[in-house]
Amino acid sequence: MRKPAKPARENISPSDLTFGLSTCKRCLWIKYWHKVVMPGSFPLVGTLSSLQERNFSGAHTRDIDPSLRPGRVNRLAEWVKSTPLVINGESTRWRILGKYDLVAENEDGTIALIDCKVSDSSRDSGAFYSPQLEAYAYALEKPAAGKAASVASIGLLIWKPRNVIRDASAYGFGVEQSYVPVSRNPQNFLDVIADFISVLEGPVPESGAECATCNYLIERLRLED
Ligand code: SF4
Repeated sequence: MRKPAKPARENISPSDLTFGLSTCKRCLWIKYWHKVVMPGSFPLVGTLSSLQERNFSGAHTRDIDPSLRPGRVNRLAEWVKSTPLVINGESTRWRILGKYDLVAENEDGTIALIDCKVSDSSRDSGAFYSPQLEAYAYALEKPAAGKAASVASIGLLIWKPRNVIRDASAYGFGVEQSYVPVSRNPQNFLDVIADFISVLEGPVPESGAECATCNYLIERLRLED
């Protein structure tokens, strides 16, 4: 596959540090060098996330979880872009660009970054999402424009669907809410992003034998021969 003179996009999406890295890296490489993105099918994700985010607008952090510093959620779903990523002391062409879910401004001047999930997956652990949340924290602490923030905490706010609620006039889903604090680990983020960038800067990776999508496409092509 041809490698162009420069990538089609140089802004790394934080979510690629979780789901993108859980399969082979070929699709990621194609996304960044050719801007060809595998179509996803997540029809309710956007609706559920914005309902969840709006529910916490203005909320006190202590009502979300007592472990959080006192503050209030006053920023929802904003884009953040970092300065160029520095790997092993060298500036790269790559930056972080993404839209976080919630930011609370704490009374001590720091901020809390909160990522919302509607999910019942056992994969919703701090370790799995740490690089993604650290990527947002990196962009907030090293913004391409505006004032740098000090991120005191990062964490997941999970709604796990549990039951159906019904009254005389409406139906709904009840959820079990939990807050999962994620330990700050900027060094792990730098290690993950260094590996990610070395994949992007290298030749196109081979596809993985275990990926259902590639195997489906191979079967389809075989049928059409
Ligand atoms: S195996 Fe194929 S579809 Fe799956 S991530 Fe790799 S290139 Fe993409």
